[in-house]
Amino acid sequence: MANTFAMAESRGGALRRVALEAVSAARALADASGGGEVHALLAGAPGIASLAPELGKYGADVVIVVEHAGLANANSEVLAATAAVRIRSGGYRAAVFSSSAQGRDLAPRVAAKLGVAMAADVTSFELAGDALVVRHPAYAGKVIATLRLTGTPAILTLRPGARAAVESAKAARVESAQPAIDPASSRVVVKEMIAGGSAKLDIGDAPVIVSGGRGLKSAENFKLVEDLAAAFGNAAVGATRAVTDDGWRPHSDQIGQTGRQVSPDLYVACGISGAIQHIAGMRNSRTIVAINKDKDAPIFKVADYGIVGDVLEVLPVLTAAVKQARSQG
Ligand SMILES: Cc1cc2nc3c(=O)[nH]c(=O)nc-3n(C[C@H](O)[C@H](O)[C@H](O)COP(=O)(O)OP(=O)(O)OC[C@H]3O[C@@H](n4cnc5c(N)ncnc54)[C@H](O)[C@@H]3O)c2cc1C
Repeated sequence: MANTFAMAESRGGALRRVALEAVSAARALADASGGGEVHALLAGAPGIASLAPELGKYGADVVIVVEHAGLANANSEVLAATAAVRIRSGGYRAAVFSSSAQGRDLAPRVAAKLGVAMAADVTSFELAGDALVVRHPAYAGKVIATLRLTGTPAILTLRPGARAAVESAKAARVESAQPAIDPASSRVVVKEMIAGGSAKLDIGDAPVIVSGGRGLKSAENFKLVEDLAAAFGNAAVGATRAVTDDGWRPHSDQIGQTGRQVSPDLYVACGISGAIQHIAGMRNSRTIVAINKDKDAPIFKVADYGIVGDVLEVLPVLTAAVKQARSQG
């Protein structure tokens, strides 16, 4: 029986979906180790403590709340130091971060401070005796590496969407803690956070992503992609690198090996060829729909549903169908 630590990410005073995934994964690890507790670290501006019960719903036994006006925006130096102090004193079997931008920033710092093993971008894990065995895709998803982490705590970053957030209600106890470094004296100063792209939802959080490639022919035609995303109501817009390099979409929309890694419930690839570098960022999506006029386009090899046709003609029809389906409840 051993306790497990989870980093609960928040942004703008709200929990991120990856926070619930990290807590759920920590719950699974704690249960597999014979029923230890899950301790989730929640840091942010005063008032962030109100999110603690939500973490309890997903399996946290203890929520360590660190409230400070200087943490309104995530400060990696302060958060890494605070997480490291807690993990060092907590005697945890494992510590789960998300493989989000913030988690990829924090987890290696924490592992280095503690001098322990870390695995990044983990898609599955299991306890095997004294070791934590994890799998993660490497070489743009061409191989799946299996790693054996020995020693404690084992630190991992979990690929967003790789494991669903599962409700497992606990009445979480709340503990208050101080930041390990005063944010006012931190060498890192977060001056401003600018929301990327025009999409309302971040592509890392959206359950549906409608993504466009060069097959759309012009920046203006992305209106058709935005219309379909709006019809879903819970969708974000993504893009290939070809499109972001051409300036049709902001770089923050880019999905792939050198862009964002996503795994939404539904990924709609519009006029995207399916280059290995693009697939590396979206192949873990639960359901993939591809629209391409070339029936031999590689994207169809990873798609669950394929539409061979002109994306400029298919998109308005799909948008109308989604609107109609949603209006019928
Ligand atoms: C080191 C490196 C890193 C990279 N990282 C990334 C990355 O992170 N993300 C990424 O996306 N790419 C990345 N790339 C680029 C990648 O190799 C591809 O060039 C890119 O993904 C292609 O984008 P695309 O599918 O939009 O364009 P294309 O490959 O040009 O494909 C356009 C597709 O649209 C179809 N099409 C054309 N007209 C229509 C129509 N009217 N209706 C329907 N379909 C139509 C075509 O049949 C074609 O399949 C990287 C490349 C390198 C070398």
